[in-house]
This record gives sequence, structure tokens and C-alpha cells, in this order.
Amino acid sequence: MTDEDEKFLRRAIELAAKSRADGDPPFGSLLVGPDGTVLAEDHNTTVSQSDISLHPELKLAVWAARELEPAVAAATTMYTSCQPCGMCQGAIERSGLGRVVFALSGEQVTALKPPATAPPVRLEGPALYDEARVPVEGYYT
Ligand SMILES: [Zn+2]
Repeated sequence: MTDEDEKFLRRAIELAAKSRADGDPPFGSLLVGPDGTVLAEDHNTTVSQSDISLHPELKLAVWAARELEPAVAAATTMYTSCQPCGMCQGAIERSGLGRVVFALSGEQVTALKPPATAPPVRLEGPALYDEARVPVEGYYT
């Protein structure tokens, strides 16, 4: 972690504070390109836009995949006020971004929140392999 990393992490924390002040959950993120330029910034808007997917990390991963050449994305760093959740981590992996630097860990954020009350989602499968493989088989060749 360099002084430059800490500078950009502090900006992510500022975005998180602004998000909270604006009535949204307190999370902020930014993308910094290979030359140290801030390419994009965002914050959580799940409340103001009534969309559970509007985490800043997910929005920036989508932006990076759409707007950046693969080599630029691979050399771009996401700075974020909190470790990306599972949803965002999946999007980041698909985006081509090369590095994520976070402030609070997932465990640290969980410790700051009330205990979860929703039961875990039950996943069932695999099933119907012979039928389900038909539209997939050969697609990735
Ligand atoms: Zn997330």
C-alpha cells in the first residue's frame, strides 16, 4: 500500500460519507487509470434509485467493461471504501479490472452492522444436465 493508494482510498471514504449524507448507504469507489488519472467515481445509490444492484463497485465494473480497452482495464485500479461484496466481486472479475484496493474488510463492515435477519438462500442443483447443456454446448468455442 503506497501513499498514492492511501490518497485514493481517502477519496473513496469521502464518497462514502457523501453517499450517507445524501441518504444512501455509506459506500464509495473510484477507478484510477494506469497514469494515475481518476477515470470515474461513484457511490451507492440503492436507496435513492430503489435498485439493490447499485453498489458503486458494480456500477464501476460495468462502466470499465463497456468503456475501457482490455489493456487499460487490466492496468486500472478500483479503490473502494469497503471490500466488494460477492455480487460486485463477480462483476469485477468479469470486467477485466486488474486490481482492487479497499479500506474496510467485509468482516469489519459486518461488525458495524446489526445482525442479518434474512435466512440464507437455499440453492438446489445441478439438475436436467442433458437438457440444460444443449443451449450452452458449443457456444464458447
Ligand atoms: Zn457490492
